[in-house]
Amino acid sequence: MHNSDINKFKKIVGSKNVITDKKDMEKYLKEWRGIYTGIAGAIIKPKSTKEVSNILKYSHEKNISCIPQGGNTGLVGGQIPFNKNHVVISLERLSKIREINNVNQTITVEAGLILYNLQKICEENNLLFPLSLASEGSCSVGGNIATNAGGVAVLHYGNTRELVMGLEIVLPDGSVVNNLKTLIKDNTGYSLKDLFVGSEGTLGVITAATLKVFPKPKKIYTALVSVNSPKESIKILNYIKNNFSIPLTAFELMNNFSIELVKRHINDILIPIKKFKWLILIEFSSNEGSKDEEDKIENILNKILNQNLAKDIFIAQSLKQSKNIWNIRESISEAQKKEGGSIKNDISIPIEDISKFINSAIKISNEEIPGSRCVVFGHIGDGNIHFNISQPVKANRDKFLKKEKNLRKKIINLTLDLKGSISAEHGIGLARKNDLKKYKKEDVEIFKSIKRSFDPKNIMNPGKVIDI
Ligand SMILES: Cc1cc2nc3c(=O)[nH]c(=O)nc-3n(C[C@H](O)[C@H](O)[C@H](O)COP(=O)(O)OP(=O)(O)OC[C@H]3O[C@@H](n4cnc5c(N)ncnc54)[C@H](O)[C@@H]3O)c2cc1C
Repeated sequence: MHNSDINKFKKIVGSKNVITDKKDMEKYLKEWRGIYTGIAGAIIKPKSTKEVSNILKYSHEKNISCIPQGGNTGLVGGQIPFNKNHVVISLERLSKIREINNVNQTITVEAGLILYNLQKICEENNLLFPLSLASEGSCSVGGNIATNAGGVAVLHYGNTRELVMGLEIVLPDGSVVNNLKTLIKDNTGYSLKDLFVGSEGTLGVITAATLKVFPKPKKIYTALVSVNSPKESIKILNYIKNNFSIPLTAFELMNNFSIELVKRHINDILIPIKKFKWLILIEFSSNEGSKDEEDKIENILNKILNQNLAKDIFIAQSLKQSKNIWNIRESISEAQKKEGGSIKNDISIPIEDISKFINSAIKISNEEIPGSRCVVFGHIGDGNIHFNISQPVKANRDKFLKKEKNLRKKIINLTLDLKGSISAEHGIGLARKNDLKKYKKEDVEIFKSIKRSFDPKNIMNPGKVIDI
């Protein structure tokens, strides 16, 4: 990268906000799983939409490629640059709250705001922003929107897409589009915000968003339920949905081995049910918080037990117990990371076939890699399963990972046979680009023409999601 370019960027954002030192750049170039390590000419940290616009205006003129980055928690490599002439635009300094509107029930925030901070600000205002993921302490609102993040509350509140009302965007040529609307109804042509939700930094930079918020629930009820198989969990899900009116806000399945890993690698977590094959985390959220409701919840959980759908039930009696139950679920990825090599699949399947998928995928994994240890968990209420495989005990990590291609091919075929999706919530980035090209040929052609019309010079996150 030319010194003149670096100097120009320094002029736009201030010298100390352009990082070129190798050591200081490291945290922006390595991602959470340690799979991708990138290179870049500089990391640029703007503080305003105007600065983002000036960076892009200049980059467009000089054909400099830009990779937007939020919290760098993406799991498909989309936020990592791979060329010394490319720059990362880190949104971390663009993190103000612009407006909280209690009447419209909306909040307008800048893209670099950390999700956890957004949740806290809402809570302080007696509101709820329901998006919740295990990476919430680091991921940013802009990254959540750019990946259409899912998480644990989709069952009731929807994906990030459903929570976005309007966006402020900077296009590749530096022009700013302000669509920060609070309208519930607005049928005025194509939905630009919907194009940018899930665009993974390939169409422009999201600088701010108006988001839906909800009244903060008066009471949250959390329970752990043990079942013999995923099939029972789906029966319980349907039973609750069909017979109960208190909102069911989370329904997460975890297999025995995923809990084994949490016990092995994570401190200070108690597993309140001792013997089980599968556990489900169930959460209800209530705007009443009455004693009557508490009885109703106990009652429906007991019915599930009496009908032999569940083997055992533990209902959290305090916030501490509830947090402990959530910690079990949210620590699985961290625990699996400590267990050696892993092959990951983030898939979704129509709910009726989830059980069929899990059984067949376990069988395939053991045929392909004898001794495979399947870590099966996820948002089963949305049909979304993280079907991960940890390396067999004492196996060589690299040899194990070499088998990923064949195994993934079979898991993908199974997923597609069951009319599922090969990337339910993590996106495409770099990791799933070839799969997208291979399995969604017709869509990819349409994506290319959209990309060309927004970014004819291909300066936004080139090489991610699709090639043009
Ligand atoms: C432990 C763990 C658990 C996770 N659990 C979940 C989960 O349950 N559900 C889920 O959906 N994901 C999950 N993720 C994945 C990840 O946290 C999400 O994809 C998150 O939304 C990424 O946000 P980020 O700010 O870190 O984005 P980054 O990683 O910085 O970027 C991700 C992508 O978005 C683009 N981007 C970032 N900011 C902008 C912007 N302002 N404008 C335009 N493009 C932008 C980047 O170019 C990149 O392509 C998990 C990750 C970890 C490490």
